[in-house]
Amino acid sequence: MAGIYIHFPFCKQKCVYCSFYSVASLQRRAEYWEGLFKEMELRKDFLPEKNIDTLYIGGGTPSLCTPAELEQLMEKLQQYYTFSPSAEITLEANPEQLTADYLSALKSVGINRLSIGVQSFDDNILRLLNRRHDAATALSAVQEAARAGFDNLSIDLIYDIAYRSGEMWRQELATALRLPIVHLSCYSLTVEENTLLARRVREGQPYLPEEADTERDFLILREMTAKAGFQQYEISNFAKEGRISRHNHAYWTGEPYLGLGPAAHSYRHPVRQWNVADLKRYVEGMACGRPDREEELLTLDQQYDEYVLLRLRTCEGISLAEMEEKFGAARKAQFLRQLQRVRSDLYRRDGDAVRLTEAGLLFADAVAEELFADG
Ligand code: SF4
Repeated sequence: MAGIYIHFPFCKQKCVYCSFYSVASLQRRAEYWEGLFKEMELRKDFLPEKNIDTLYIGGGTPSLCTPAELEQLMEKLQQYYTFSPSAEITLEANPEQLTADYLSALKSVGINRLSIGVQSFDDNILRLLNRRHDAATALSAVQEAARAGFDNLSIDLIYDIAYRSGEMWRQELATALRLPIVHLSCYSLTVEENTLLARRVREGQPYLPEEADTERDFLILREMTAKAGFQQYEISNFAKEGRISRHNHAYWTGEPYLGLGPAAHSYRHPVRQWNVADLKRYVEGMACGRPDREEELLTLDQQYDEYVLLRLRTCEGISLAEMEEKFGAARKAQFLRQLQRVRSDLYRRDGDAVRLTEAGLLFADAVAEELFADG
């Protein structure tokens, strides 16, 4: 199995919390496509196979792509790869672009999954996050997408924000869960460096909740999604049966993927590569056939740490047999010794698996650190 990620780095404006690489301007768009197609050709042999199981077009705001651009993208990809008949082909979309005509064009070019950046159904919160849409637009976008025949719909919500009480969060989730979606990604608001949010927080704006409210919102999220028939398969991701994001799941389980576009990452065991997060430099590098890209060869310790970190975030957890197969018996024995230092209410052992409990999921990164190779 192999996957491809395309990074479309254009947005109309920056959301306050966003640390993804994107530019708030649509200039250089033609050069971007030229660079991307050049990169596709230069890297056609990066993946170990030509059969593609997942394609994810993320950004940025890929729903700013015109149908003609997407059609050309799909045609170019098919010059080098074959999509499996059940390939998952996802486009990240902002609600304000999802008109009936645009949705029908997306279907025609082969998009079969949409990940819609709703973030909130509260207009005040949407304004505080600097989103361009309002709640009514988000609701009608999801419904319109379902009417257009998309049956694999996901929405993103942001929680853990001080401007929302527990009751408001319940109401927003209830609204989300009444929609015809099969997947929900819920991310807690995080202050990343060099974002507008970091500046506003420094200036004293009260975006961030108390720790107790974080826990409250997380528990509400787990309770309501479970009641609605969604399984939490990763800390931030919930899906109806058979509807997990295959693309993201492949990242977490170490499958190879090729990332094309500025700032895109690629992985083929044991090498990770990342393109320069700068559109101009990306385009220039492609134009002269010398891509501006870095790479690192992951050491065994780095591979192990990544395995522990990513697997603990999933409900499958860590399989001790798999750990031994990948990293050896000595490493597994060390892991079990380190595990004894972790608070016993934060994890449980189910036969071969070590999984985080509900309390553990709240501290997943800290637990993983305890279990790292040099821990
Ligand atoms: S639309 Fe997405 S990529 Fe663009 S600024 Fe907002 S969060 Fe970032």
